[in-house]
Amino acid sequence: MPIQIKKAKRINELPPYLFAEIDRKKRAALARGVDLIDLGIGDPDIPTPAPIVEKLVEGASKPVNHRYPNSAGMMEYRQAVAGWYQKRFGVKLDPEKEVVSLIGSKEGIANMATAFVDPGDTVLVSTPCYPVYHIGTAFSGGKNFFLPLTKENHFLPELDAIPADVARAAKLLWINYPNNPTAAVAEKDFFKRVVDFAHKNNVIVCHDAAYTEMGFDGYRPMSFLEVDGAREVGIEFHSLSKSFNMTGWRVGMAVGNPEIVGGLAQVKSNVDSGIFQAVQEAAIEALNQGDKLIEPSRRVFQERRDILVDGLHKAGFECEKPKATFYVWVSVPKGFHSADFTARLLDEAGVVTTPGNGFGAPGEGYVRFTLCVDKQRLREVTERIRQVKI
Ligand SMILES: *Cc1c(COP(=O)(O)O)cnc(C)c1O
Repeated sequence: MPIQIKKAKRINELPPYLFAEIDRKKRAALARGVDLIDLGIGDPDIPTPAPIVEKLVEGASKPVNHRYPNSAGMMEYRQAVAGWYQKRFGVKLDPEKEVVSLIGSKEGIANMATAFVDPGDTVLVSTPCYPVYHIGTAFSGGKNFFLPLTKENHFLPELDAIPADVARAAKLLWINYPNNPTAAVAEKDFFKRVVDFAHKNNVIVCHDAAYTEMGFDGYRPMSFLEVDGAREVGIEFHSLSKSFNMTGWRVGMAVGNPEIVGGLAQVKSNVDSGIFQAVQEAAIEALNQGDKLIEPSRRVFQERRDILVDGLHKAGFECEKPKATFYVWVSVPKGFHSADFTARLLDEAGVVTTPGNGFGAPGEGYVRFTLCVDKQRLREVTERIRQVKI
C-alpha cells in the first residue's frame, strides 16, 4: 500500500489546464495518422546559429566549466548583457548590480513572486498572458488582479481603470511587449504612463521583453528601461530563447533596478546554482554578434508572417499583420467560441492552434497561430483553411 500522498494546496489550487482538450484531440488525430500541422507552440523550428553552437562545444571541453557556476551569472556574461543593452537600446547597466543571469526568463519570472510577494499581496497582471506571471503570484499566496487586454484598448492595460485601493495595494505589475499571445506592441507614451503609475502607487514594474528582437519591416521594439525613471521602478526580463532560437538552452537575464534585481538574485542563490558556464560562453558570443545572427531568422519569420496573414485574409479571417513576435492573433468567425473554432481547425484542416481564452478570459473570441513551421507548410495551412466551413 502506498502512503497517502497529498499535494500542497498551491498545486491543488492551480487553475484548470485549458489546453487539455486540444492536446487530447491532437493526440487522437496523430494516432489516426492525420498529417497535422502544429501552429500551437511558440518554439522556433530554426536551429541555433552555428557560431553559438561552436562556442558551446569549445566550452564544454574546458574542465573549469565542469564545476558549479555562480547563480547570478559569470561576470563576463553579465558584462555581455550590459554591452548588448547599451548597443541595442542605449541603456547603460552596471553588470554587477543591475544584471542577473536566468535559467531562461521563465525561471526568473516565476521567482519574482518568491522575492516580492507575501501571502495576501496584490499583483496586477495584464491578460491574456504568459501564465507564469499569475501562477508565480498564486504559488506565493498572493492575489492576482487581472487587467484585460482587448482590441478596444489596443491590447494595452488601462491603468486609469484600476480601482485606487487596488492600485495602492499592488506590489507588482506584469506587462509584456511585444506581446504574447496578442502580438501587440507598445510605444514610449505607454511605458511613460506605466512609470508614472508605478511612482504614484509604489508598484514594481516587471516588463517581459522576450520578443524585442522579433520586429518586422525594420521595426525595432524598445526596452522599458529606455524611459526616464524606469530604472527607479522596474525590472526587465529578457531571454536568448526567441532572439537566437535558443529555447532549449535555458539562458536569459533580468536587468534594471539594483534592489529589485538584487532581491531576485537573493532567491536564486538559495534555489539554483546558475547556468552551465559553457552555455554562458555561447550566450556571450550570441550577444556580442547580436543582429548579425538575428537578422536571418527575422527575415524568415517575416516571410512566413506574410504568407500566413495574406492566406488568412483571403480565406475571410480577421487579423492584424503583426509588427513583431511570431504569433498571429486571429478573431474567430461569428458564432464560434475560441475552443470550438480551434477544434474545427483541427478536425477539418488538421491545423493545430491555441484557443485564446487559454491565456486568460479576455482572450475568448481569438485563436493564436504561431509561425514555427516552414513556408511550404504555411502555404499548405492557408490552402487547407480555405476549405474550413465558417
Ligand atoms: C517564450 C517566452 C518567454 C521566454 O521563456 P524562456 O524561459 O526565456 O525560454 C518569456 N515570456 C514570454 C511571454 C514568452 O512567450
